[in-house]
Amino acid sequence: MKKTIQPSPSPYLLTPGPLTTSATVKEAMLRDWGSWDSDFNRMTAEICARLLAHANVTESHVCVPVQGSGTFAVEAALGTLIEPSRKTLVLANGAYGKRLASLLARMGRPFELLDKGDYEPPMPEEVAAILARDPAIAYVAVIHCETSSGILNPLEGIAEVVARHGRRLIIDAMSSFGAVPVDGRRIPFLALISSANKCFEGVPGFGFALVEREALAAAAGRCHSLSLDLHDQWRYMQHTGQWRYTPPTHVVAAFLQALQEHEAEGGVPGRLARYTRNRDRLVAGMRGMGFRTLLDDAWLSPIIVTFLSPEGLNFSAFYEEVKRRGFLLYPGKLTEVESFRVGCIGQLHDAQIDAVLAAIGDTCRNLGVRPAAIPHSAA
Ligand SMILES: *Cc1c(COP(=O)(O)O)cnc(C)c1O
Repeated sequence: MKKTIQPSPSPYLLTPGPLTTSATVKEAMLRDWGSWDSDFNRMTAEICARLLAHANVTESHVCVPVQGSGTFAVEAALGTLIEPSRKTLVLANGAYGKRLASLLARMGRPFELLDKGDYEPPMPEEVAAILARDPAIAYVAVIHCETSSGILNPLEGIAEVVARHGRRLIIDAMSSFGAVPVDGRRIPFLALISSANKCFEGVPGFGFALVEREALAAAAGRCHSLSLDLHDQWRYMQHTGQWRYTPPTHVVAAFLQALQEHEAEGGVPGRLARYTRNRDRLVAGMRGMGFRTLLDDAWLSPIIVTFLSPEGLNFSAFYEEVKRRGFLLYPGKLTEVESFRVGCIGQLHDAQIDAVLAAIGDTCRNLGVRPAAIPHSAA
């Protein structure tokens, strides 16, 4: 007998990726592609050209996609670009900054860690002081939006300091690129890394790095890993138009569709406007119920917002109740205080934000949780 799996309707993902994608992005995955075929190669080339244009670095940089999740692309960029003997300053204020340090430690590359804890931003003056005192530091690695708290780090000021001290900047813009503008002419970077399944609203399966062409050309044979060698991936793609090893073909097709929808929405400004509106509506509604945000308004990103858990909130019960109403929330990732996160990105509009607020309110009443009883402590 033929067995079929009945899918339940997709819940809305209030998470920072994978996120809720449009029906048309999902439909773009309904055909098969030959990875060597010119039609597929044209899609890859168009994606790369569009991504470079978004950062305004079409002349100076190249785009190299790499199979895997975002972390694979970060590891590929660090391993390919940083010489094994040269030191990197890692700026951390959350899990993703710490992951940069873990990657370098695993590769045996020297680094210094500026760890600001759960949510304090690394400030340009601090970076300047470290760079002035340690001439051995050649690279600075920074997270643009630290997704573990949702903070938007002061990238422009940090980039200015790094350039002034003659060092090179590597940006993990995973959860911001496509929604928060990064203009490579005003924010000079050696490499910027992001992935298919965040603000461009594609599905997961590959990441990409925008890398300064000359630096990448000089990086032959440096990478610790064969499959993550961005230089080799780039050279192979230059010569053949193809990915070096099997690409996630359906994911690539979906991503091109997602890029076209991004453009139709007004590009980066259009997407930023919708995500900002989602955040403002969400934060106002949550505060109206008595919830508090971890961060002051000035540091809230339009990507994801951390809320402090009310006294006595059992997150897994809360999560399950909200899930039954069709929405997936995101657990907190702070070490000091209990929290949970709600994403603003993906195919979410006013109606979905209103509906998730209603679901959270209803859940609180059901569970007898009183958000207004939160101790007012952080930030
Ligand atoms: C999502 C994300 C990553 C990559 O995570 P993966 O799970 O490997 O896709 C890296 N950095 C930041 C800031 C992120 O938000």
